[in-house]
Amino acid sequence: MDLKTSLPLTSRTAKLERTVIDVKGVQIGGPEPVFMAGPCSIESLSQMREVAHAVKGHAHILRGGAFKPRTSPYSFQGLAEEGLEMLQAVGEEVGLPTVSEVMSPEDVDLVARYVDMLQIGARNMQNYALLRKVGTLRKPVLLKRGIAATIEEWLLSAEYIMSEGNPNVVLCERGIRTFEPLTRNTLDISAVPMVHHLSHLPVVVDPSHAAGAWNLVEPLALAAIAAGADGLMVEVHPHPEAALSDGPQSLLPERYCQLVESARELCTLIVRRQTHA
Ligand code: PEP
Ligand code: MN
Repeated sequence: MDLKTSLPLTSRTAKLERTVIDVKGVQIGGPEPVFMAGPCSIESLSQMREVAHAVKGHAHILRGGAFKPRTSPYSFQGLAEEGLEMLQAVGEEVGLPTVSEVMSPEDVDLVARYVDMLQIGARNMQNYALLRKVGTLRKPVLLKRGIAATIEEWLLSAEYIMSEGNPNVVLCERGIRTFEPLTRNTLDISAVPMVHHLSHLPVVVDPSHAAGAWNLVEPLALAAIAAGADGLMVEVHPHPEAALSDGPQSLLPERYCQLVESARELCTLIVRRQTHA
């Protein structure tokens, strides 16, 4: 791969120092990993308040989906703008910045009015009209890896955003589809050091969508931190059995808080390199 020509904005040939992205005062890519937590879907104000109050001491950014990319059109599709209002209100109540997914170019301005970071989901990693549209803003973008995307394709999607003028891109590894059916996806841990080798952009890991099962989330999360991930995004629900989406992979708030304690302890044992070796 000739990085200089194919990845002019994202590669480390473009910039040797690692990029730190500021999400309303939270620094992603700095010395400390950043923890993002919340339910898969925003379901009600009371659900969001319950999660947010339970995780606020163990999270830097609150997540919740209002526009949901569901495999089946008959599954819960999200509360749309009503959900975004709830996320914004609860984020302000607990003092956490927010992140939520946007699925189409027409919704970008709407979602950007309510949240501090825009998530591009795995299914839309190659929706080039959407990438270009979020590239016209300055709002930080969390760009998830596509379910069958190579690392080069993922970085090229980041190029789409950055070449429109938005330099604030955080990459998110969330597992890729392989022949293994026992996990929902296969977490590609190697993507973390590989992205740090190829690019100056921060990379976080979502162990929840990789695992598909709550009991696998903590080990995958700790592996990600050990590999040098700049943060984690974890699905948390106060009543996973009643969740409208992704209940089986959602952690109870207490378990999530324990995971963060373990991750912080692990960080004291590893050297997080801020410049490229
Ligand atoms: C999500 O974050 O809820 C989600 C749908 O993630 P992904 O795009 O990684 O499947
Ligand atoms: Mn989900």
